[in-house]
Amino acid sequence: MAGILFIISAPSGSGKSTLVNALRSQVGGIDFSISWTTRQPRGSEQSGREYHFTTREEFERMVQNDEFLEHAEVFGNYYGTARRSLQEATEAGRDLLLDIDVQGFRQVLSKIPDAVTLFVMPPNPKVLRTRLRNRSRAEGNVDEEELERRTREAKKEIENYRQYGYILVNDILDKAVAQLEAIVQVERMKRDGRPIDKRTKRELEIAEECREANSRERLKPILESFGINPDLDPEGPQQEELFKSDTPKTSEDDE
Ligand code: ADP
Ligand code: 5GP
Repeated sequence: MAGILFIISAPSGSGKSTLVNALRSQVGGIDFSISWTTRQPRGSEQSGREYHFTTREEFERMVQNDEFLEHAEVFGNYYGTARRSLQEATEAGRDLLLDIDVQGFRQVLSKIPDAVTLFVMPPNPKVLRTRLRNRSRAEGNVDEEELERRTREAKKEIENYRQYGYILVNDILDKAVAQLEAIVQVERMKRDGRPIDKRTKRELEIAEECREANSRERLKPILESFGINPDLDPEGPQQEELFKSDTPKTSEDDE
């Protein structure tokens, strides 16, 4: 049986790692891809557990050797998913979860279009900043400039939410964890062609509520709190504009 590739993205501080850790402790059969990064370890992070921490030189060498499924620069550091993670999960027929940013998500989706994609939103900028600050305090390094940068960056990431299949709002943690679990179970049920019973019926309802197309009303106040116009339709022509604005201008653009 082929494994499912799950991709989860979120602005930094939304609680994505917290959600993913809860999922991993409660649902078996899912591998977590440990990314490579050039950023410094935070708090109690250990190389080989949260990330493979490496140097820019080593990372660039891996890029040259085409060892990455995707890679991107985020907050001035390189991050990448090794091809090997996907290869190992595929060979073992296990599900795989990638925790990557929007740039990485686009690269992977263009190669693996049937990946199941999830976007995690914080309830509003104030809560996001508080979470970022609490995490920094716990790690013993509050950098106000960095907090400001990550909060500003959050808006840009959130603007891409409509490209994802499922949207989770991480307000009440237990609720968001239950939603994440339901989505995983429902996607497995679909893959296996299993019939719906009483328990899976409830999971199906929860997962359906999280579908991007069913989330628009629920997300309106959140988008507005980040200064995003909820009526902008990023799936229409404006979406193309959005993509275009991401692409650096070249001399060919003027021709
Ligand atoms: P991310 O992986 O998205 O950068 P983290 O999982 O590190 O974010 O969470 C950022 C901070 O917010 C952590 O201190 C975490 O304990 C806290 N947090 C996460 N989810 C919630 C929640 N639903 N309610 C309150 N605090 C949360
Ligand atoms: P952090 O430094 O807070 O752990 O992560 C910063 C951002 O980098 C998050 O949005 C996270 O999802 C993203 N990220 C982590 N690993 C990867 C990766 O392998 N590839 C890409 N493209 N982004 C990653």
